[in-house]
Amino acid sequence: MTIFRLENPIQHYDWGSQNAMNQLFGITNESGQPMAELWMGAHPKAPSVALTSGQPIALNNLVDGQAEHLGEGSQDKFGQTLPFLFKVLAAAKPLSIQSHPNKQQALEGFAHENHLGVPLDAFNRNYRDDNHKPELVYALTPFRAMNGFRPLEEMQSLFAMASIQSLVEPLQWLADGNLKTFYEHLMTLQDESRDQLVASAMKFAETSNHPAWQEVARLNQFYPGDIGILSPLLLNVIELTPGEAMFLKAGTLHAYLEGTALEIMACSDNVLRGGLTSKHVDVPELLKTIEFDTIQMSELCLKPEAELNGETRFMTSVDDFLFSVVEPAKALEAFSVNAAEILFCVEGNQVIETADESIELSPGQSCFISANTGQYKVKGSGRLARATSIL
Ligand SMILES: [Zn+2]
Repeated sequence: MTIFRLENPIQHYDWGSQNAMNQLFGITNESGQPMAELWMGAHPKAPSVALTSGQPIALNNLVDGQAEHLGEGSQDKFGQTLPFLFKVLAAAKPLSIQSHPNKQQALEGFAHENHLGVPLDAFNRNYRDDNHKPELVYALTPFRAMNGFRPLEEMQSLFAMASIQSLVEPLQWLADGNLKTFYEHLMTLQDESRDQLVASAMKFAETSNHPAWQEVARLNQFYPGDIGILSPLLLNVIELTPGEAMFLKAGTLHAYLEGTALEIMACSDNVLRGGLTSKHVDVPELLKTIEFDTIQMSELCLKPEAELNGETRFMTSVDDFLFSVVEPAKALEAFSVNAAEILFCVEGNQVIETADESIELSPGQSCFISANTGQYKVKGSGRLARATSIL
């Protein structure tokens, strides 16, 4: 066998949607818990289960260290496991404000916490592995998120609207182009000075009809008093329309707000949080990983690149994953495989076919394609998401 149907674990994080996975993919919610993420991959924390002709087997147990499944090129470049983790993410509430380390920071941070003896599953562990975690998000419904620092002039004018006395001096740092000092100041305010700033900001937010300030008021409903509620004044607030995608490189401050999306990332669980969460927050470590450059809203979306055979690719600056969308109706030729893949049916119905195997997918279903599959054809209707890596 080289093609395996997958059964995928659901993560019940508290920000997850009760019904989005059911509405889109018919995945029933028997426990009544929020269904936040469906994981497709070989991450040891929650691997997919591959259905074989014999016993079902956890995907990491099937593929780790196995050249026939991962491909020798993939093993040479990315190591002995699947280099990416692919998810469906359904947010009903805002997620934490966060950034992810680059490869070097992850290597050092992981080694350092090992040296200190912090258990891998400890609440206050920042680095759970030694890998970077760039992410790509592809909207399945309208998907709102905060991503990257706004241009400085936008930040200045948004903060200035509220005429908050304690911000007069800090806003001058922004005017001088010193975003890092400004952000560090906000994030390290203590007790009374922080509470007063948040209270003044909320007073203005409640009367403002500016979308960024309305977002501040909305965040305060979920995380009252958290300094992170000011993030919409600092970061671009974007709504992706279904079919749009964006890339989040290492060091980009971001938070997903609401909606359902496919997400693909390097196989890592390294998150540094700066608020809007009940999980571990480590501001000094977060500040070390943030890239303090700004980006225009218009530069956030990835430009889809139409390929042959009904495939549209969303290229990024990393090789750990390659995300594309296939329209089976236009896919008349076979696809060539040189590294492991995961296919996920977004809509319609597809048959994935090799010379001697075939598998049918309906919405919400997925399969793993081994590196030694050679070629496969896709027949059917709708849309298929394709995840692989670049060798
Ligand atoms: Zn993230």
